[in-house]
Amino acid sequence: MSEIPSAIHELIARGALFVVNHSGGKDSQAMYLLLRDLVPREQLVIVHADLGAVEWAGAIGHILATTDGERFFTCHARRTLLQMIEERGMFPSPEQRQCTSDLKRGPIERTIRGITRERQALGIKAWGLVVNCMGMRAQESPKRKKLTPLKFSARNSKAGREWHEWLPIHAMLETEVFENIKAAGQKPHPVYALGMRRFSCVFCIMASEEDLKTAARLATEHPELLNDPHLYRKYVGLERSTGQVMLMPTKKNGRRSLEEVTGVAA
Ligand code: SF4
Repeated sequence: MSEIPSAIHELIARGALFVVNHSGGKDSQAMYLLLRDLVPREQLVIVHADLGAVEWAGAIGHILATTDGERFFTCHARRTLLQMIEERGMFPSPEQRQCTSDLKRGPIERTIRGITRERQALGIKAWGLVVNCMGMRAQESPKRKKLTPLKFSARNSKAGREWHEWLPIHAMLETEVFENIKAAGQKPHPVYALGMRRFSCVFCIMASEEDLKTAARLATEHPELLNDPHLYRKYVGLERSTGQVMLMPTKKNGRRSLEEVTGVAA
């Protein structure tokens, strides 16, 4: 794990608001723990983009149980992921990741702008100074490895705001994530102990085959882990009605439906 950049210490001293983008997953949890020890409590807020039916049950409860009562916001997209797929007649692609921008980034940024307006109305001096913190790690993929851990966001630095994007655990390894959670006397969400490697959407367009197999098995054997017990059947149904498949075809395996990938009949 690398050192905290000096620019972050300066932003803390200037009174910046640090926003924890919290999915309920292990990386968000480890990131929160780091920020909790670094940033004064009054400068820390947590925002969860609630994905509703497509995320694991108990995500919000897990966040609340593993944080210390900081201000907590949830936000929603204007339409759900399943509606998005139905309306567009196709699944989001890993390249464009329209799901991430529509379901997470957009609603979270709107929420942050709302918080800054509230801070301005309260007369807080550094009302527009924002550090938006996300839990991407270099180890996750070559694409994530190339991300810049701390950067100024010109796109969001408008109307009196100065907005920075920070990946506090970019250098953290997966083993360290679990170790840090354990060291804090916490556990990650229960789906990790049941074999999942990633959190957020139960069936993610970016998921590994192993995670999709585990998710399909858990969805059929443990419907109580889902917000929608019929979720797997709905994804399979969308593949049939759109004539598309959720996973991008690969050179090795070609084009395969969710049922073919997971071996679980809907
Ligand atoms: S978890 Fe996966 S499917 Fe869900 S919004 Fe993120 S990239 Fe898209």
